Amino acid sequence: MKITDSIYFVECPWARPGYFVSSCIIVRRSIVVVDAGVEDSPKNAIYPYISSLGREISKISHLLLTHAHFDHCGGAAPMKDETKCSIGVHELGGPFLRDPGLLIKQLNSRFPTLFSGRDFSFKPVSPDILFRDGDLIDADGSHLRILHVPGHSPCSSCIVDEEEGVYICGDSAQGRGENRPLLFHSSSEYAESMRRLLSEPIKVLVIGHPFPPFSKAVLRGEEAKEHIRQSLRAIEELTRLVLEALKSLAKPASIKQIHERVGVSQPVTIGCVLEELEAEGKVERVDVDLWAPST
Ligand SMILES: [Zn+2]
Repeated sequence: MKITDSIYFVECPWARPGYFVSSCIIVRRSIVVVDAGVEDSPKNAIYPYISSLGREISKISHLLLTHAHFDHCGGAAPMKDETKCSIGVHELGGPFLRDPGLLIKQLNSRFPTLFSGRDFSFKPVSPDILFRDGDLIDADGSHLRILHVPGHSPCSSCIVDEEEGVYICGDSAQGRGENRPLLFHSSSEYAESMRRLLSEPIKVLVIGHPFPPFSKAVLRGEEAKEHIRQSLRAIEELTRLVLEALKSLAKPASIKQIHERVGVSQPVTIGCVLEELEAEGKVERVDVDLWAPST
């Protein structure tokens, strides 16, 4: 799908029929790809799209990643092998690209009961560019600004084409819906990132999956703003629900029990919210995975 004269959107099929990971292709003198989907997404979705535009994949100069999660960076190692492109990620994402086991290791130490047997693996790859908030990436014809919007992950970043007003933000803003949001890092940073995005002159927002309420990934104008407003409201409401659930349970409860009582989002996100409430002095961790309101 054409977003502007030089920016295109590609659906990389993933997980279940009709669902996808977003990738964007910025086609100027060189080609910049933003997010590479899962391991076979370059071959199955991204390269065929570039060919359909009459361009060669050898012109891919950069792959920029919105964050270092397997569904967005799984295609990075094959793309680097096949095109010799430079890979850029926020500096906080570098260690996770080099060591795909790191995410689960860290989650297991934060929430020891949630992830037995899960892994989020992909082929490791070394980033060439470690960017920070405010950096400008000069990619032979494209100037892209980095907006650091952590919360879903510590490295979550929005890749901004300022001339076109296009913001490619991966899973940084997840709107709302029964199983959203899915955060692995910090609920307070997520809320702060939403406030920051609301102050940006966004013409087009590209999100990482077809998140509700609009259930599509390319959002223009007022829809983009509404998606971000709903993302902020969702995390504020979830925080209130977690605290209410904990107060309504007669004794200390595990994350899974609190999740059942709350009935929305996912256990790992409930864990992130609990950590935040603990930092605010509103809840206490009374055992490895038992939480209670502060007395
Ligand atoms: Zn994702």
